[in-house]
Amino acid sequence: MIVTDKINDVRAIINKQKLSGKKIGLVPTMGYLHEGHLSLVRIAREHSDFVAASIFVNPIQFGPNEDFTKYPRDLSRDLKLLEKEKCDLVFAPSVEEMYPRELLTKVNVDKITGKLCGAFRPGHFTGVCTVVSKLFNIFTPDIAVFGQKDAQQVAVIKKMVEDLNFPVKIIKAPIIRESDGLAMSSRNVYLNPDERKAALILSKSLNEARKLLDGGERNASYVIDMVNKVLSLEPMCKVQYVSCVHPDTLEDLDIINDKVLVAIACFIGTTRLIDNLLWGEEI
Ligand code: AMP
Repeated sequence: MIVTDKINDVRAIINKQKLSGKKIGLVPTMGYLHEGHLSLVRIAREHSDFVAASIFVNPIQFGPNEDFTKYPRDLSRDLKLLEKEKCDLVFAPSVEEMYPRELLTKVNVDKITGKLCGAFRPGHFTGVCTVVSKLFNIFTPDIAVFGQKDAQQVAVIKKMVEDLNFPVKIIKAPIIRESDGLAMSSRNVYLNPDERKAALILSKSLNEARKLLDGGERNASYVIDMVNKVLSLEPMCKVQYVSCVHPDTLEDLDIINDKVLVAIACFIGTTRLIDNLLWGEEI
């Protein structure tokens, strides 16, 4: 496994691989890896011949009162995990390597970034789209894998790729959960033992949504009410939003037809957690 923090190294390595006919797969991450991230590497491997991962805590996607400085980091542990997965290349740049001078160019996807998480994290998706565009230009991957855990992110990246004609196929990977149902997240490390227990309410509320949808319920506001009702059973949980939207357009649904994304964001203590249920669509 090659490890570098230099953009020029990545370009040289990828060029060589492309010349020998290899298909390039990219898995962008912010590090502090868990099984969710590693599942993306495995999926990338299925769809490409040379798998690259990036590890970069991207400052421009964090708001001023968010957790950029305290975001968990452990590069040596991450590299061991990626080595075990037989990842071919890891790019772990410094902030200066990615943003050497004042950044005057940003990539902004309209409309679908103004709702769900985007409504509460102004500028977040512009930061995400900008860094992902840079990574796409650095790696020129044939495929890139993103987790359904960040459902809005996948929808936004797909739209950006469509709108700007990036020659890359976006592959959506299912959510990996702990055995008790909690969606894996680097931020779960912030939870103390009581909060960790309380955090189970997110997946429980989505299980209720799944039960209703499987049982034929098609009224989105009823599903939202029932999810809120389950979430309210946990006193440590403060709901930010519960929405039923179309998985691609993120438009709010009144009546659920063939598929729906039930997306939630909650605070457990000071930790903001997101989770979602993609119902009616195979990943
Ligand atoms: P992050 O390091 O949190 O930016 O995540 C990097 C990638 O891993 C994103 O595409 C996430 O959606 C994905 N990811 C994070 N957690 C999970 C999970 N529990 N299951 C599947 N993918 C995940």
